[in-house]
Amino acid sequence: MNHDEFRKYAHELVDWLADYLQGIEKYPVRSPVKPGEIKAQLPLSPPLSGQPMDAIIQDFKDIILPGMTHWQHPCFFAYFNANNSFPSLLAEMLTAGMGAQCMSWQTSPAATELEERVMEWLRDMIGLPADFTGVIQDTASTATLCSLLSAREKYSDFQVNEKGFSSQPRFTIYCSTEAHSSIERAVKIAGFGRENLRKIRVDDDFALVPGALKQEIVKDIAQGFTPLAVVAAIGTTGSTAIDPLRVIGEICREYGLWLHVDAAYAGTALLLPEMRHIIDGLEYVDTFVFNPHKWMFTNFDCSAYFVRDKGMLIRTFEILPEYLKTKEGQRVNNYRDWGIQLGRRFRALKLWFVIRSFGVDGLRAKVRNHIAWAQALAEAIEASEDFDLLAPTPLAVICFRFRPTGLVDEQQLDDLNARLLESLNETGRVYLTHTKLKGRFTIRLVVGQTEVQESHVTTAWGLIQEQARRLYAGGG
Ligand SMILES: *Cc1c(COP(=O)(O)O)cnc(C)c1O
Repeated sequence: MNHDEFRKYAHELVDWLADYLQGIEKYPVRSPVKPGEIKAQLPLSPPLSGQPMDAIIQDFKDIILPGMTHWQHPCFFAYFNANNSFPSLLAEMLTAGMGAQCMSWQTSPAATELEERVMEWLRDMIGLPADFTGVIQDTASTATLCSLLSAREKYSDFQVNEKGFSSQPRFTIYCSTEAHSSIERAVKIAGFGRENLRKIRVDDDFALVPGALKQEIVKDIAQGFTPLAVVAAIGTTGSTAIDPLRVIGEICREYGLWLHVDAAYAGTALLLPEMRHIIDGLEYVDTFVFNPHKWMFTNFDCSAYFVRDKGMLIRTFEILPEYLKTKEGQRVNNYRDWGIQLGRRFRALKLWFVIRSFGVDGLRAKVRNHIAWAQALAEAIEASEDFDLLAPTPLAVICFRFRPTGLVDEQQLDDLNARLLESLNETGRVYLTHTKLKGRFTIRLVVGQTEVQESHVTTAWGLIQEQARRLYAGGG
């Protein structure tokens, strides 16, 4: 492909994308294909000679597109959103086009310095104190792993890095039973061992019970363990429950524990000053992560990791082989030492485009709407005779189930709701997913897609009621 062809196809694909996004509501939100259906259409071996771009693009439309779930559909109410937006897309195009490897200051000074600046912006935008320093990671899973590795090195005086665990005490880590699976994975990868992760029980609202945390810490100390770190969830994945940060922080202070906050989804809500009460207790926090790639209209991947002590982070990861030495040395930030991977994409650019194009007030307006529409739906569900809320709705995720009058058998209710969920998703008009709360099958509805409007939410609610009643009338 030459320059002229690149220009031609790039224009063609941008037009296609604009049409796609404009007409996205005509696609089924969740891809209806069966397992193996896409792969069966792909040749067993790669072409030996190059093929024309027209053919490749045609196959993209014919083979790939039907196998895509449309995450940018406004009726995508599943999981958490992975939003993009027009400014984010444009920046991502530039990032790919320049193809820079942003591991050191010298390998693209603008990438490093823009990242410094937008992370300062972001820190201030969500109300973190000025002594936090930010760095962009690929995902919250990585940021949480970085946090636990930093804690490990701090408490072992950097000896695990040097000698391994052999002469170390048995460290224990704490989170709630509702915490994200990435914490367990980080505990495994960091070498603590899964059996040294203590999952603390939650209250009726699915928030960690601090008294139980303290008891467990005391018990562990008595049994010869060394409590090391707590991961508090501000917005759990199941029901967006909010752990009581201040009380947890006080316990961490009392016992000298590291405190990491996982606000992967909920961090975006902190753009709203009226939501900042959920992070009361920040003075006790060592590290904090949230994902602009979930709810802040910045396409995957972009996770904002903030640390109180950047020296601790850098000392944990620093490594300096000859081929990476540059004349600027310590005078500049070399982000390769701020995380696990060496190579880094230029992710700050899309954040900069998004923040500037929406403006802080523009971002706030969207998030405020999402929360308001979710609250209104939660109220409608609460008021409805045959639907129940199964968790509080502190943000924009509603946890509910269908419970027709007279049906009390829990197993039957689980089955009925599983069938309701599947029948909703099969319509192609909405996509919702589920969780289990107190052992019960729970349908989750996340209001948060970039282009979602109140009408999409009310239409979804209408569809849910219609399907539920049809399903139940049709034999329970
Ligand atoms: C989504 C989520 C994660 C994982 O995020 P990734 O960026 O995909 O690693 C972690 N914690 C919570 C609370 C989440 O909601």
